[in-house]
Amino acid sequence: LGPTLCVGEILVEIVATTPGCGFRAPQPLIGPYPSGAPAIFMSQCGRLGGAAALVGCVGDDDFGQLNLDRLRQDGVETGAIGIDPEYPTGSAFVRYRPDGQRDFVFNLAKSAAARFGWTAGTEALCDRAGHLHVMGTALAMASAWEVIDRALPRIKARGGSVSFDPNLRKELLRDPDILPRFARMVAECDLLLPSGAELQQAAGVEDAEAAVAALLQGGVAEIALKQGEAGATVYRRDAPPVHSQAFAVEEIDPTGAGDCFGGAYVTCRRLGLPVAEALTYACAAGARNVTRRGPMEGAGTRAELDAFIAATGYRA
Ligand code: ADP
Repeated sequence: LGPTLCVGEILVEIVATTPGCGFRAPQPLIGPYPSGAPAIFMSQCGRLGGAAALVGCVGDDDFGQLNLDRLRQDGVETGAIGIDPEYPTGSAFVRYRPDGQRDFVFNLAKSAAARFGWTAGTEALCDRAGHLHVMGTALAMASAWEVIDRALPRIKARGGSVSFDPNLRKELLRDPDILPRFARMVAECDLLLPSGAELQQAAGVEDAEAAVAALLQGGVAEIALKQGEAGATVYRRDAPPVHSQAFAVEEIDPTGAGDCFGGAYVTCRRLGLPVAEALTYACAAGARNVTRRGPMEGAGTRAELDAFIAATGYRA
């Protein structure tokens, strides 16, 4: 039924290697790594053999080319990714605190990352897309929202499905522009991929069980709840919940776990795999990705995930 479409920011990440050092002193940095939640998601879709197309923009520079090369190599369509002649590719410098928290120095506002919009090419893509995946970051990005607002009814009208990963900073949920977009995505999605308390935020209730019931009642067909090192659980209306434990790995870089989980789950379901199998692949994709430095360096092909599952036990 056509490719999975995703819309949003593409950037590179450059990483400080000395925890606790900050950026106020010279130090070895590594990267650039291709990044941006939509790009990570797409990369995982493509590596698993799912048709995937990304709408976004990069600059006319090496950082942009690095992203385009990676996406193409992973089988992602890049025809709807613009190359801006004026602004550089978005970038983020990342450093880890000793407690594992991350701090960023972003160059997104004056970058190519948001410099795209609705074009004839995007319209043509929507007219053959079978699925739209929306990331929370796109709700706070005028250009991405404009594309999503037009793509959503088109893709749905041709029988396509929609998934939504809230992935939105809490303070943005109080923004009067973003709140209705968030509510609309919850109402329109077939598959919701919340992480932790985003489940309750999506339902607007405090209790997790009541939130699941309200969302399923409200029309969400499937909820894949990401629970970090506790694994993940899928809820559906007329079937018992399916849980998968997390795989036991040494976490090197947590960035991108949720996006790889989502890319794998959406792709496996679209390829017709049953919930339990799709969930195992999704947990494996999230876990494998945190074992490599770089936001999408650990995204796996089906063969790589099979080998990872065979070699790695579940967390006790
Ligand atoms: P998000 O990044 O959206 O908060 P999670 O951190 O829950 O998402 O990660 C998504 C999935 O990836 C988890 O459900 C889990 O299966 C897997 N995962 C993430 N971090 C780890 C880890 N340290 N060890 C094993 N699996 C992990």
